[in-house]
Formats: sequence, structure tokens, C-alpha cells
Amino acid sequence: MSGATARTPAHALDIERIRADFPILNQDINSHPLVFLDNAASSQKPRSVIDAISSYYQRDHANVHRGVHTLSQRATDAYEAARSKLAGFLGATSDKEVVFTRGTTEAINLVAYSFVEPRVGKGDEILITTMEHHSNIVPWQLLCERTGAVLKVAPINDDGEIKLDEMFAMIGPRTKFVSVVHLSNALGTINPVRRIADAAHAAGAFVLVDGAQSAPRMRINVAALGADFFALSGHKTYAPTGIGVLWGKAELFDEMRPYQGGGEMILSVTFEKTVFNEVPAKFEAGTPHIAGAIGFGAAVDYIESIGIDAIEAHEHDLLLYAADRLPEIAGLRIIGCAREKAGVHSFVLDGIHPHDVGTILDNEGVAIRTGHHCAQPVMQRFGIAATVRASFGLYNTRAEVDRLVAGLGKVREIFG
Ligand code: PLP
Repeated sequence: MSGATARTPAHALDIERIRADFPILNQDINSHPLVFLDNAASSQKPRSVIDAISSYYQRDHANVHRGVHTLSQRATDAYEAARSKLAGFLGATSDKEVVFTRGTTEAINLVAYSFVEPRVGKGDEILITTMEHHSNIVPWQLLCERTGAVLKVAPINDDGEIKLDEMFAMIGPRTKFVSVVHLSNALGTINPVRRIADAAHAAGAFVLVDGAQSAPRMRINVAALGADFFALSGHKTYAPTGIGVLWGKAELFDEMRPYQGGGEMILSVTFEKTVFNEVPAKFEAGTPHIAGAIGFGAAVDYIESIGIDAIEAHEHDLLLYAADRLPEIAGLRIIGCAREKAGVHSFVLDGIHPHDVGTILDNEGVAIRTGHHCAQPVMQRFGIAATVRASFGLYNTRAEVDRLVAGLGKVREIFG
């Protein structure tokens, strides 16, 4: 990795103990111990998260917010306690700034529909970057179709960094909203979101940060990031699928229209008029994913018991180690060499299709992802169809990086 900056080393993690917390890791795949390097797609779950969900269903399940009986109160308490944990995890000033969603995708769609759409008209501009995940592209395209707004895309350089000067020059009086990824799932680039948010705010625009990949990998403080909205997914953060969070500034949430209508999000309903509930309930129509939220709270507890700074330092060590070892494979080219990078190495092997690489690695028990990683414009930018992507989690080890490199060596043997 060219010029990757060294981070302050944190206390070394007790990886063997951590690995024992993740039951799924203790298995063979194709007669080899599993090496799981597909964490950017979805990470594995510690026993404490699995137990929290199981215990909720075995002892406390009932619908939330509506019952006077004990189980409903227990479920409500656990659901709201999870919200508080997420607020603390993100550095939010109030639980009201935490809305549970299905994930990052739904959080971005919610902001597009409820916040941005009423504020834009023909010729107004939404600014994103070339390195966005499809979930931070398509909602804006749909919005532009509905409103006549224009989608602008800031370019990236050959190292996979945003060309900031060009991006800043694109921010002007027509710019109404800037939506940018914090940590690219396809390249590993960490973007200077604070600087981007400041530039957007100076022009009167609002900002969303897609934190799907950063939330599991680095300390998040929404105030320090300077954004108006921040989105994350539970399943990439050691929590269940189907749950995520949209953080937003309370005063913006207050003035936004609801995203969906239904139960929970109302105070009163007559056929003549419905009065909406306060935030965050206004954005949580219908029965929520109670178990998912509780699992997300348990995942936050787990991450905090280890320490997010220690996790960041550990993954950074793996990233640097892999950056040293991967070039040992002939014809391997890393896609994305940003100075600020975390969690992910995307690469191609000359003359070998990524899917073939993935299949051979799976035979060796090594799980990586191949394809466009829901970031096809990134692939187009680099003139490739797909990459192989190894992405790290807090339980990965240098020995697993060695297994990856050995597996890639086999790929080279087979394909020559
Ligand atoms: N944004 C980024 C950077 C991602 O990596 C992903 C998932 O890979 C998403 C958004 C979408 O997340 P989800 O599918 O959990 O909604």
C-alpha cells in the first residue's frame, strides 16, 4: 500500500480468546480450517449477540411500546436500551437521534425521500463520488428522476482517493445535498468526510455519511465528523442482518416528513387527520426488528468490551501485513492504494478471472469475495470487471493472511 500512514499501536488483542467467542469460526470448509475474509460483505456474530437474541425470544418477546403487560415492557426496555447503546457508540447527544432501519440502504433511502426530496427542484444538485456503493447511488438517481434534480459525481484518482479540489469545485449554490462514503467497501479508502462536510455546509448543503464499513472499524463520533446524517448496518458490525441505524440531527428529524405510514409512527388517527408520533418513532412504522435491535445493542457491548481503538489498530496491522505479502504473487495488482485506508484489499490477478480465484480459495477453506462489490462505477473507473476482495474483521490473524497468500500461490500454480 503506497504511503499508508502508521497508527498508534493499541494493546494487542487476545485473538485466541476473541476467536473462541465466534462459534462459526470453529469449523472446516473443504477439509481446511475456515479463514473468513469476507467481513466487508457481512461479519460473523459473537456468542453474546447470538445469546442475546435467543434469550430475548426465550424469555422476553412481545410487541414493543403498546402493551402494559410485563413481557411487552421488558421487550420495550430492551429495544430502547439498544437505541441508547447505539447513541453512545456513535457519540450522539440524544437517543432521539437514532432511528432503527433495515440497514444502510434503507437509511439512505429514508433521507432521500423524507429530507432531500421536499427540498430539491429542477436543476438542483446532489453530489456523490465515484466510489459509492450502489445503495448511495441508486436512491439519488431515483430522486433525480422524481424531482428533476441533477446527480453530480466527484472523480477519484488512480490510488482510489477522491480528487478533493475537483469535488470542492463542484460544490456550489445549486448543491443541495452531499452523500459520501466514509470507508469504501471496494477500495478501502477512508475519506476526509469532515473537510467535505465543512465545504458542503459552507455552501448551504446538507451531508450524509455512509458509515457501513467505517462503523465496525474505527471510532465514530458524529459530532466530530460534522455530518447531518450517518448510516450504518448491523450485520457488518457483528450484529444481525435486517437491522441498521440512521443517525440524524434532532432538529432535522423533527422537520422531516415520515418515510412510511402505519402503526407506531402515529399519535392519533382519524379518517380526517393523522397526527404523527415524535422522533424516532415517526420513522419506525410497523413492528420493528426488535430482536435485531437487541442483537445490535449486544454487538455494541461486545465491541466496547474489546475497544474500537484496539480493533482499528489490529485491522490496520493486518492490512499492512497483507499489503507486504500480496505482491509476492506474480501478476497481482492491488486496486486502491489510498494513503488513508482500512479493512479491505481489492486486487486482480493478471489473466485470471476473480471468480476462478474465489473458487480455488474456497477449496482451500479461504472465504473472500469476488465481483463488483456493488460498486460498478469503481470497476469502470479502473477499467476492470471485478476484483478479488479480502476484508478483515477483529478476529482475523496474520496466519490467516498467510493462508490467503498460500491459496493465491495455488491459483498461480494452476493457471500458470
Ligand atoms: N454502503 C457501503 C459502503 C457498503 O459496503 C454496503 C454494503 O456492502 C452498503 C452501503 C449497503 O449496506 P446494506 O446492504 O447493509 O444496506
